Amino acid sequence: MRDGLLLFETGCAEDLDVKWGAPLTDVFPRVQYDEEHKLPNAIKAAGYDIKDVKGVVFGHLHLDHAGGLEHFVGTDVPIYVHEEEFKHACWAAATGADAAVYLTDYLTLDKLNWKTFNDKQVDLFQGLTLHHAPGHTPGLCILQVNLDKDGTFIFTTDQYHVKENHTLRHPQGWLARDHTAWIRSSDMVERLQRLYNATLVYGHDLETAETLIKAKKFYE
Ligand SMILES: [Zn+2]
Repeated sequence: MRDGLLLFETGCAEDLDVKWGAPLTDVFPRVQYDEEHKLPNAIKAAGYDIKDVKGVVFGHLHLDHAGGLEHFVGTDVPIYVHEEEFKHACWAAATGADAAVYLTDYLTLDKLNWKTFNDKQVDLFQGLTLHHAPGHTPGLCILQVNLDKDGTFIFTTDQYHVKENHTLRHPQGWLARDHTAWIRSSDMVERLQRLYNATLVYGHDLETAETLIKAKKFYE
């Protein structure tokens, strides 16, 4: 990127036994976690250092997407997120209204450089567009990335956990907080996909991720 290295979401905290604790680790068990999966090591594998990160962009702030903010506490790195998501996450974590999926430890107010936006659609950087897609959470945004050679990618974060949420329109049950909004957001994603002939990258779809990682060392 012309603007430097940007990260889309961060994954979980490293030490789930401490940061999550039971019963969360029972409900959402992490089945495989090796050295290579730790955020600083994953960034190193891409040829950078975590200190090179110039900004972190969030689709949503659930604990399995934002726990890695622990690496940015006390830094000036801007953390971009939709205003609705930030408000909802702080409220939900602080009051315990949705405490199973947002935690207070990474939603630190004074030690992270939060930058919010409140647009339906915003070009955050050249070639990077965020689209507000409420449903799974109130402030979720999908990320559209337009690449010169490899075309358009849409990172859906948890608008779709796995491929079948999209291809079969399989609803998310308890994991979607507003089903009607989720359906409308799905319509929007499908229009975008048709318009740009986009490749979708889902929030938790191992097969899609592995296929893309195996196909090319990097995309340009
Ligand atoms: Zn989520």
